[in-house]
Amino acid sequence: QTILTVAGVDKTYPGATRPALDRISLTVGAGEFFSILGPSGSGKTTLLRMIAGFERPDVGRILMDGEDITHVPPFRRDVRTVFQSYALFPHMSVIENVAYPLRMAGSRKAERLAKARECLDLVSMGDFAARLPHQLSGGQRQRIALARAIVCRPRILLLDEPLGALDLRLRQQMQHMLVSLQRELGIAFVYVTHDQGEALSMSDRVAVMSEGRIAQLGTPREIYFDP
Ligand code: ADP
Ligand code: ADP
Repeated sequence: QTILTVAGVDKTYPGATRPALDRISLTVGAGEFFSILGPSGSGKTTLLRMIAGFERPDVGRILMDGEDITHVPPFRRDVRTVFQSYALFPHMSVIENVAYPLRMAGSRKAERLAKARECLDLVSMGDFAARLPHQLSGGQRQRIALARAIVCRPRILLLDEPLGALDLRLRQQMQHMLVSLQRELGIAFVYVTHDQGEALSMSDRVAVMSEGRIAQLGTPREIYFDP
């Protein structure tokens, strides 16, 4: 069933000559891997920030499970975001970083550590719990950021070019890891990328953006054979 609805959303930044988002409508299914593909400046990040709640539409609405969340602040949405920069706390160990959202949510220490360990195992980083972030490679840090993003089991995970800083080989490994993680968790992924191959190989459906509009929307097969 549908978990997320973006309904007729417009956004023009102050002073801009054209809208960053122009009549955007789409739905994402529960547990779907949905990609937003497009060149730089096409509005991908703005759309993601809208879903996360960091931006408000000028016009239009965002719904989750049919409930209007347009004016619900980011921290009260059942949504987490992973960015290209990992933004780990440098003074905290890996496991403390992963457990941090649970601490904010007020869960007990034993429960926090158990859940954090489980998520570290899911991203194959169970052996690195006691390390500090600077002792890890870029790909490992991104896996920790992922573990931290899923530790509260959000219904939607937003990923903004999460592999953009990695070299090609690592990126391919991480693509496989992301897809199997997504299948295992059943969390809806909304994945922003400017890499067409990545979007087409990983996703259930893809929205292709151009100049603030959705130019195409469909399965990878539909997009690939009907360019
Ligand atoms: P993408 O993620 O596809 O690169 P963005 O959503 O970042 O696209 O940008 C869409 C358009 O909105 C671009 O023209 C960009 O310059 C503009 N834009 C993005 N963020 C801001 C902002 N905070 N203030 C003004 N203009 C912005
Ligand atoms: P991306 O392509 O991933 O969106 P950018 O380098 O375009 O990355 O944007 C980085 C940050 O700068 C974002 O927070 C975006 O909102 C902001 N930004 C982008 N374009 C503008 C702009 N024209 N004016 C002000 N802020 C902008």
